Amino acid sequence: MDLRFTADQRDFRDEVRTWLAENIPAEPLPPMDTPEGFEAHRGWERILFDAGWSVVNWPEAYGGREVGLVEWLLFEEEYYRSGAPGRVNTNGITLLGPTLFAYGTPEQHERFMRPMAAGDEIWAQGWSEPDSGSDLASISTRAIRDGDDFVLNGQKTWCSRGAWADWMFCIVRTDPDSERHRGLSYLLVPADSPGLERRPVGRLDGEPAFAELFFSDCRVPAVNLLGEEGQGWSVAMATTSSERGLNLRAPGRFLAAAGRLADLYRRASAEHDVDPGVLDQVVRAWMAADAYRWQTYATASRLQAGGELGASASMMKVFWSELDVELHATALRLLGSHGELVADAPEAVDAGSWMSGYLFALSGPIYAGTNEIQRNIIAERVLGLPRK
Ligand SMILES: Cc1cc2nc3c(=O)[nH]c(=O)nc-3n(C[C@H](O)[C@H](O)[C@H](O)COP(=O)(O)OP(=O)(O)OC[C@H]3O[C@@H](n4cnc5c(N)ncnc54)[C@H](O)[C@@H]3O)c2cc1C
Repeated sequence: MDLRFTADQRDFRDEVRTWLAENIPAEPLPPMDTPEGFEAHRGWERILFDAGWSVVNWPEAYGGREVGLVEWLLFEEEYYRSGAPGRVNTNGITLLGPTLFAYGTPEQHERFMRPMAAGDEIWAQGWSEPDSGSDLASISTRAIRDGDDFVLNGQKTWCSRGAWADWMFCIVRTDPDSERHRGLSYLLVPADSPGLERRPVGRLDGEPAFAELFFSDCRVPAVNLLGEEGQGWSVAMATTSSERGLNLRAPGRFLAAAGRLADLYRRASAEHDVDPGVLDQVVRAWMAADAYRWQTYATASRLQAGGELGASASMMKVFWSELDVELHATALRLLGSHGELVADAPEAVDAGSWMSGYLFALSGPIYAGTNEIQRNIIAERVLGLPRK
């Protein structure tokens, strides 16, 4: 096994690093879960796209550079290390994008990939329903074929950035007599469809980070079906694999946080005595972030050699989500009472980002399929234990 990067990969990393250093906004953008922040982040997506950095591993025809997975991982490391703005179209480029490449028709590729890469069309995921979260196969939103359209009725919830997104990718029941995984379809729904009402849902901090979607005889053209009618569950599983495994949370995100945590420790220990137990936690968090990095490079090599991610995506999801909580909890232990200061408090450390990061990290074991569900999957499909 050769763990060194090639000369081309090192050059690629240097190019990313230089471009980011010269181009990231001097001032932080407003939070992405506000109307003005959403549009500011959309503008940043356009800058990335114009410079060819929006979707580096996509084909050139859609704005990419056609680099491999290892280069994409290097890009992510540099991106997070630089402190560049969050990606407002993550649901599009990291979840729907790979699914569209795998299941979309050539016409759908032409129609959707470039606007997605450029941030002209920002996507949200419309899967969860009030009575269907973990048990996604129990969804009841119906889409009944009527001529060239499907007619949707039902409700979705917890749709991240759904209040302002331009499009939603939804799982709907197209066979009203079906049960469970059968009779589902994957539908691409324009946010301005007549009969679709979006109601923003406030997060604990008050920002409307989610939306509920209400479909009342909402007509969506049948050409917006992704995959075959009734094949929705298989298509959705391709998306969940991206969501849990490789694409949504690349190691660069946690490496950067671990680096900031080590820096916080240095600053804190220069100012006052720090409990040696906390140093141990800082080191463990840093090592775990590095372990996740190498595990991911191993996975990328396996995928490039024709392997599949499969149920190991669930192990990655449990690992990154618990690591994120631990990283931020350790920072809060270091900060003591200062950790509770909000962003604009004069003595807030790192603009209060450790507390806001901690609160968001707490949702990691819930979104993308809860960790209890991932552990069920690991037990059954990786360890071969009997279903309960
Ligand atoms: C920050 C955030 C963003 C989100 N964004 C989106 C989005 O953009 N689009 C979208 O569609 N959804 C989104 N969700 C919703 C998310 O997918 C669901 O919250 C998640 O799937 C859990 O579903 P639920 O909330 O209905 O909980 P439930 O399914 O009701 O689960 C409640 C509890 O019971 C446990 N449980 C349930 N079944 C089992 C079982 N069989 N074995 C063991 N334990 C079990 C769960 O682990 C959980 O602890 C988001 C959630 C969060 C927190």
